[in-house]
Amino acid sequence: MSDSLVFVGFVASLLAGLATFVGALPILAVGRPTEQQENLMLGFAAGVMLAASFFSLIIPGIEQAQAMGASKAEASGTMVAAVLLGGLLLAHLNAVVPPLDRIGLGPRAIADARFRRVWLFVAAITLHNFPEGLAVGTSFGGGDMAAGTATAIGIGLQNLPEGFAVAGALTALGYSRQRAVLLALASGLVEPVGGLAGAALVSIATPLLPWALGFAAGAMIYVVLSEIIPEVQTRLGPGRRASSALMAGLVTMMFLDSTLG
Ligand SMILES: [Zn+2]
Repeated sequence: MSDSLVFVGFVASLLAGLATFVGALPILAVGRPTEQQENLMLGFAAGVMLAASFFSLIIPGIEQAQAMGASKAEASGTMVAAVLLGGLLLAHLNAVVPPLDRIGLGPRAIADARFRRVWLFVAAITLHNFPEGLAVGTSFGGGDMAAGTATAIGIGLQNLPEGFAVAGALTALGYSRQRAVLLALASGLVEPVGGLAGAALVSIATPLLPWALGFAAGAMIYVVLSEIIPEVQTRLGPGRRASSALMAGLVTMMFLDSTLG
């Protein structure tokens, strides 16, 4: 393993992570959103992350497992286990979060249901940036520059709407737009950490990659289904508006991932 490959893997995952920041910037251009718009933005963000779970985590995870010699059934079975584990962890984390506030940890007002829900969502997006970085790092660390570049570009592109999702969700909580953008940047900076680990420890990281991708997908899907969708439905009233925002986010990410990724 040459040091230059590790460096390239790190820089590429850093650039992909910074796309999260770039994607959040449009938030600065729009005026202070109304409560309606905030909720539509949160619904859009949920759709984006739901599509991202399948197109940029689960499908690549199955492909990665197959590339390591697993049969289609074995690869899919691995993903089933990883997705369920991710969901399970979040379900438990969810139960653990409120007491954090009582001992003075966690963001302000985390005991508030809406704060807790949106922060769990942001935490899940941040968490999934680690295996994404790992994917970029391992593909460079394996020595294939073309594969590494393609992975970095694909992941960078899907980080654009994710950055918007993070910043939009935090704006919906009442954070200033500048702060929301900076927090999106912080969540994107998890990516080069994964990138460095993946490139430097490629022989260890590669077999773990499908697990990490599936785990992150399970965590994300759990949060979207159990926290964000009910939240948006309650705030906007059941029916069309929330679902339209979600569908718009879903197809935006699906299109980006399947044409450009
Ligand atoms: Zn992503």
